[in-house]
Amino acid sequence: MHMVLRLVVPIFGPPAAGKTTLTMHLGNEPGRRVFRLREHVSEEVLAATATSSERLGWIDEFTVGEAVRSYFTAGQQDPDIHTVLLDNFPGSAAQVDQLLTTLWTLTSCRIEPIEVVTDIHTLKQRAKNRKVCHRCEHDPIHDPRLPAVPTTDDPWQCARCGGLLHPRRGDSPRLFKARLQRYHQTAIGIRTAFTDSGIPVTQLDTTNTIEGAANLLAPLLISRSASL
Ligand SMILES: [Zn+2]
Repeated sequence: MHMVLRLVVPIFGPPAAGKTTLTMHLGNEPGRRVFRLREHVSEEVLAATATSSERLGWIDEFTVGEAVRSYFTAGQQDPDIHTVLLDNFPGSAAQVDQLLTTLWTLTSCRIEPIEVVTDIHTLKQRAKNRKVCHRCEHDPIHDPRLPAVPTTDDPWQCARCGGLLHPRRGDSPRLFKARLQRYHQTAIGIRTAFTDSGIPVTQLDTTNTIEGAANLLAPLLISRSASL
């Protein structure tokens, strides 16, 4: 089997730190793909996560394991992919273990986890300001996540389709606070699971601008995905 996948970049961090924007900036280059867990689980599973705000989108480990395994089984045989960015994944220490087991079984790629960091003021400000478009992003449970770009004249009008933008559901103050708390509870475990496996975690500060942080990360992605 000809293995071509050379680099996997797990990107994790608190809500509204800029993970998705980062992957949208960096994932468009030829040879790169972005993995978003929600896009690889069934509508039934997503619907189940939406019924309880306490679950906050939590997906059971079996489903996660299957999604990651099938994605990389297909991906590592695809000659057009050398780098995969994982947007907001892994979300727990158990998911780190699942990811590493899958990658080590299938590939010999490098793994470069990035923890996106910024201060609480910036997080709250970004969560308050960011918006999504229900017309441009067809989410199976009507909970779009991708940051939408507004027109220059109207912060509530989508620059792409002209439709009305909405706040992201999970950015309501109550849910945002719960998501932030959960992140702080799980982040230590995620970092430890990587470092215990001999994989250092790089911190990337997005406080100034997310675009600037993307530019800082770009050379690392190029050098790490070069042929060994
Ligand atoms: Zn739109």
